[in-house]
Amino acid sequence: MKGLGSRSEAVEKLTAGSEGDEFDLLVIGGGITGAGIALDAAARGMSVGLVERGDFASGTSSKSSKLVHGGLRYLEQREFGLMREAAQERDLLRNLAPHLVEPIPFVLPVSDKWARAKFGVGLWAYDALASFKNLKVHRYLGVDETETAVPALPKGKIKGGFLFYDCKNDDVRLVMEVLIQAVRYGAVVCNYATVTDLDGTETGCVAEVEERLTGERFEIRAKKVIAAAGVWADRIEHLANPESEQRLRPSKGVHLAFSRQRVPIAEAAAFIPDAERKRFLFVIPWLESVIVGTTDTPYEGDIDKPRVEPEDRKYCIDAINSVFHLGITDADVTGAWAGLRPLVAGKAGATADLSRGHTVYDIAPNIIGITGGKLTTYRRMAGDAVDRVAEDLGNTTKSKTSWIRLGTANVEALRAAVARRGQQLAIPSESLDNLVRCYGDRAMAVLDLADADGLSEPLTPGHQPIAAEAVYCARHEMSLHLSDVLSRRTRLALTDAAAGIAPGSRAPQLMAGELGWGSETAEAEVAAHKAEVEHERGLPLHAESVMVESGTTKAGA
Ligand code: FAD
Repeated sequence: MKGLGSRSEAVEKLTAGSEGDEFDLLVIGGGITGAGIALDAAARGMSVGLVERGDFASGTSSKSSKLVHGGLRYLEQREFGLMREAAQERDLLRNLAPHLVEPIPFVLPVSDKWARAKFGVGLWAYDALASFKNLKVHRYLGVDETETAVPALPKGKIKGGFLFYDCKNDDVRLVMEVLIQAVRYGAVVCNYATVTDLDGTETGCVAEVEERLTGERFEIRAKKVIAAAGVWADRIEHLANPESEQRLRPSKGVHLAFSRQRVPIAEAAAFIPDAERKRFLFVIPWLESVIVGTTDTPYEGDIDKPRVEPEDRKYCIDAINSVFHLGITDADVTGAWAGLRPLVAGKAGATADLSRGHTVYDIAPNIIGITGGKLTTYRRMAGDAVDRVAEDLGNTTKSKTSWIRLGTANVEALRAAVARRGQQLAIPSESLDNLVRCYGDRAMAVLDLADADGLSEPLTPGHQPIAAEAVYCARHEMSLHLSDVLSRRTRLALTDAAAGIAPGSRAPQLMAGELGWGSETAEAEVAAHKAEVEHERGLPLHAESVMVESGTTKAGA
């Protein structure tokens, strides 16, 4: 099997529940937590179904800061246990998914002696919490070294900086690798399938599900249900227990993306104070762009549609301008996204003070929920939740996920093989590196497709993803909509919002060919993607840069 397998077969296996077959475990939510639970449980030998109401990772798990990290920012909140656990998970994930979880140097510029002393102590604590096993122990850089590491810093304005290491990743791709492994262990997973009702009794659970492509409704039966619905956790709990009280206090975080030319920070990321020096922002070279974020503000709006508001944009732009003096404006923003942290309500006050730890809680007989936590610690969260149901199911197997590889076992050998094959197809080296990052060992299958179908050129002119990826993702990764490919499987919409629907992009036409869309559907897909991107980034796309003009799409089918 090349990826997630056939979606129609998955729907068939899930609907078998209507005839009485039941799963040991039904997981609600296809973000990183749900994916981790599905893999953990399936690897312990349980029969597992997973349903996701949108695309996989379409919730918070596609909106993170793209770090797998110990969480230096949490020192101030004294979340020492969480930081220690996160540092251990980071190091494990580097080994389990080496194509995806990559070390990245961070520079923390300092402008006076007081800052040097304060951050020096903080970084010693950070290294100590990781038992001095951080990728490298931090060190102090002189002025010249700091300015070389972060070329965007104005000359002569800083006194030096600290260098420390963490890891970056691609959140959606991590979710996909975990889901694909879960499927290899026998889990049945399906996107665009919403749980609309949920009932748990002493004898088992029934979930009513709406399949969103056809609108058909069916029941899934399971001995146990784990709801891993992130910021939607309260809604799911309410389905099974209408008396339940609100648990979550969502917090919004936004990121902006800029071109690497506009924010020249080379290969090191920077950890910069915001304009009022109350907190820190990351400036991270990520894929083809540099991303800046994140904010942390209490959120009371529609949890289905968070967006980057003008004040969010101003906050990030002011912060970057105050440190880098680059004169950045809204016109420089190439991409932007907003995500909601599923924080568990605690004391009143700023959401930045709420714990980043997770909670597992009872919802109804045989139904539990899990929420909170971090992308970095998803494996531990999953283990905790599955431990809670395993005993009742008479399953005494311990979690196996600390040794289950995600994507590839030998990244160097893979890179060499992909380079050899890709050069024969005249694919640029950056695109080949990107294939390894996105697909691990499956990169070779994408190249097979590129070769057989003449799809080795860029999906969109000037960008790394190749045309074969759209077809591969539709065939093997359950991509059903244009946004699934542009916003998640490739991250084109994040780094260059208009690119996937710009004149010359082959994405709409290739998806149309693969999924049998007529020209009307193709036009509607382009328009829907454009509307989604414009809503989330809170800025219109330049009319001349996209295919939709006065309601007419040039995508064709
Ligand atoms: P989600 O990813 O939101 O998944 C829940 C899923 O449940 C959704 O896909 C949703 O569609 C589905 N669902 C909801 N209702 C239903 C239903 N009725 N039926 C079926 N499915 C349903 N962590 C890090 O470790 N590193 C970082 O750099 C980092 N940066 C962050 C930056 C920001 C701005 C934010 C907001 C968070 C960040 N985090 C980071 C935290 C991390 O992203 C989250 O903890 C994690 O992604 C949550 O995953 P989840 O699976 O629990 O939730």
